[in-house]
Amino acid sequence: MKSGRVFGLSAFFGVIIILMAIRVIFFKGPMAPVTSLPPRNLVDMHCHTAGFGAGGSGARVSESLRNSWKFGLYLKIFGTSKAEVEEKGDGIVMDVIVRSINESEFVDDVVILAMDAPYDTAGELDEKAIEVFVPNRFVGEEVKSRKGLHFGASVHPNRKDALEELEWSKKNGAVFVKWLPNIQGIDPSDERYRGYYLKMVELDLPLLTHVGDEDSFSKTDNALGDPKLLKLALECGVRIIAAHVASSGEREGVENIERLLEMMPEFPNLFADLSTLTQANRCKYFPQVLNDERLTGRLMYGTDYPLTNTLMVTALQFPLRLTCRQMWNIVRTKNSWDRDVKLKAALGCSAEVFELSRGFLKL
Ligand SMILES: [Zn+2]
Repeated sequence: MKSGRVFGLSAFFGVIIILMAIRVIFFKGPMAPVTSLPPRNLVDMHCHTAGFGAGGSGARVSESLRNSWKFGLYLKIFGTSKAEVEEKGDGIVMDVIVRSINESEFVDDVVILAMDAPYDTAGELDEKAIEVFVPNRFVGEEVKSRKGLHFGASVHPNRKDALEELEWSKKNGAVFVKWLPNIQGIDPSDERYRGYYLKMVELDLPLLTHVGDEDSFSKTDNALGDPKLLKLALECGVRIIAAHVASSGEREGVENIERLLEMMPEFPNLFADLSTLTQANRCKYFPQVLNDERLTGRLMYGTDYPLTNTLMVTALQFPLRLTCRQMWNIVRTKNSWDRDVKLKAALGCSAEVFELSRGFLKL
């Protein structure tokens, strides 16, 4: 019995020593040169909120999502619970965000994203297709009374009142318009959107749009995430931020990230954000994103909060990039934004990337 335990212990330590030796041999260090400490006073331009209509917000989630195990988990990573939201209203999610950025060492401002409902080509709201709906009126009004929060509007271009809604959004402080084409049923290349795009240019409203595949929802049309579909809007002069640098999926045998990057030289009005690039399923693209010259001056910092609060985003995924001390320091950082900034900075994200969005969004 005793000798069995001794053997077990020595085998365990043997494995640890082998793993440590492998790590020393293969250690690569950061993905790009780390030149300075991360700057302060940052803007996170990609932050979600949630709600299910509590307190009269008008927000909605589908019955199937509400009944699934995912729902409680989503609220948990938002730092709240169903009971608390029911009691205090959907605005509580934004209160948690305000508290967190007040405590953050690096991030002072966040853009909260609305999420418009799907509309059909006749301009009718497609009730049955709604999975998550976060109305402009709710986000636009709620951010006004919360310091550090800004309005990211969402206007479906099929809406009959789309142009009026863009105008309302701009008047009410929107810093850009957000789309999730794969879920909202938007084909960005639709010629009928030319007037919508020209209105965006006139109002100086950029477009933050999801590009690449999307897998957080139960139904998705990933053909609509093809970066090439953005050409019409770019030709109209819209400033576009491609979310996550299109780092998922492929079309016509070419990865979406590459389809996006090859458009960068042709369109100086095309930008990209760094949100979710540290997530387990996307981090293989991170070294390329930090080093590709086509993204110089065109890449901006964002989180995709609250996804930064999941186990899919942990410094422990990078044992060949970060020292043990760095991993420990990042893992024990409680603040969601600080943890994200420290991780991206340690991996090689430059001050220029962290700071781009404040000037771009004129905040
Ligand atoms: Zn997002």
